[in-house]
Amino acid sequence: MIPFIDLAAQQTRIKPQIDAAIARVLDHGRYIMGPEVAEFEAAFAEFIGVKHCIGMSNGTDALSASLMALGVGPGDAVITTPFTFFATVEAIMLQGATPIFADIDRETFNLSPDRISEAIEQTKQKTDLRLKGILPVDLYGLPADYKKINEIARQNDLFVLQDSAQACGAVRFGKRSPGHGNIGTVSFFPAKPLGCYGDGGAVLTDDDQLAERVRSIRVHGKGADKYDNVRLGLNARLDTIQAAILLEKLKIYPDELALRQNKANSYRQSLNPSQSANFEVPETPPMTESAWAQFVIRTRHRNAVADCLKADGIPTFVYYRTPAHQLEACKHLPLLVDLRESELASQEVLALPFHPYLSESEISEVRSAIVRSLSRQETVYKW
Ligand SMILES: *Cc1c(COP(=O)(O)O)cnc(C)c1O
Repeated sequence: MIPFIDLAAQQTRIKPQIDAAIARVLDHGRYIMGPEVAEFEAAFAEFIGVKHCIGMSNGTDALSASLMALGVGPGDAVITTPFTFFATVEAIMLQGATPIFADIDRETFNLSPDRISEAIEQTKQKTDLRLKGILPVDLYGLPADYKKINEIARQNDLFVLQDSAQACGAVRFGKRSPGHGNIGTVSFFPAKPLGCYGDGGAVLTDDDQLAERVRSIRVHGKGADKYDNVRLGLNARLDTIQAAILLEKLKIYPDELALRQNKANSYRQSLNPSQSANFEVPETPPMTESAWAQFVIRTRHRNAVADCLKADGIPTFVYYRTPAHQLEACKHLPLLVDLRESELASQEVLALPFHPYLSESEISEVRSAIVRSLSRQETVYKW
């Protein structure tokens, strides 16, 4: 049985360092905002290449705190993608603001710059909402097209908040994610590319004022201290133990990003898509290094292929079966544009087993199972 992700392989690699790091925290006992938090924030800010890193309790709180720091509230609108984890949309709605969905590009699964412009026009024409910003998601580890998105934001006086929960450390246009917008977030949920052993996240920004606000919001809107409350905030700190674990994991992360790239290349080569017209493997745009949070194929026979792989002992997953605008919690939101590509993607994507320690024999086992299942489908359906 091939695991979908194998967190144990990584743990074995750095077990003594992790044990020692946790033991140090137990020794000094500063479980909340201990020295490892600031140490990790400095190391992570340097790795990403931004001025400020604020450790947070999880990726969702990181998004909420960012939106609060940006002053988003009722009557405001934020453009985002419906093809994401609900947390992205939820964070906007929790501020009382309205998410405006724009469609994705077929090739990248990320927000399409043209579709963003369309959504901006429609919001101006059809609503009285104040359009405040754009919240792109770097899906499956691939940074969105920030050259175009930042330009659209500049022309329309909008902020860019980058949800890089899945793309921590990915590179596009010579910059690591999430360093592309005004402010950005990552998640250290265990299954994300850089995961801790519990919940964790971070906000990253070059903007001094936004950083100061997020630091305040992280601890109940603190002023001089946590009993001097100058605004509403959250209780959203990164645990010291998680920071200590992340410090050790960050040391091997550049190597793991390279391993992820290797495994993705192996998958791409062995799954040579020319074998079937109804099958696509992910491509990376020029000047881009994905963090490969997931390796996602696309096929019209998605459900049948998933069933065949399951019967062969190969787990797969669908991110995301329902685009956000079709979720119960979002049904009341205004729909201003066509979201055809997001809807199609939700029916056709399939994430394969993927992690930095995947073996070549596992990759070829997955490949054989896919080829078997596709040949079965194509004789059945005769496209
Ligand atoms: C995982 C994820 C989040 C939320 O992160 P948590 O740490 O689980 O709160 C937000 N956005 C996207 C795109 C994600 O994949």
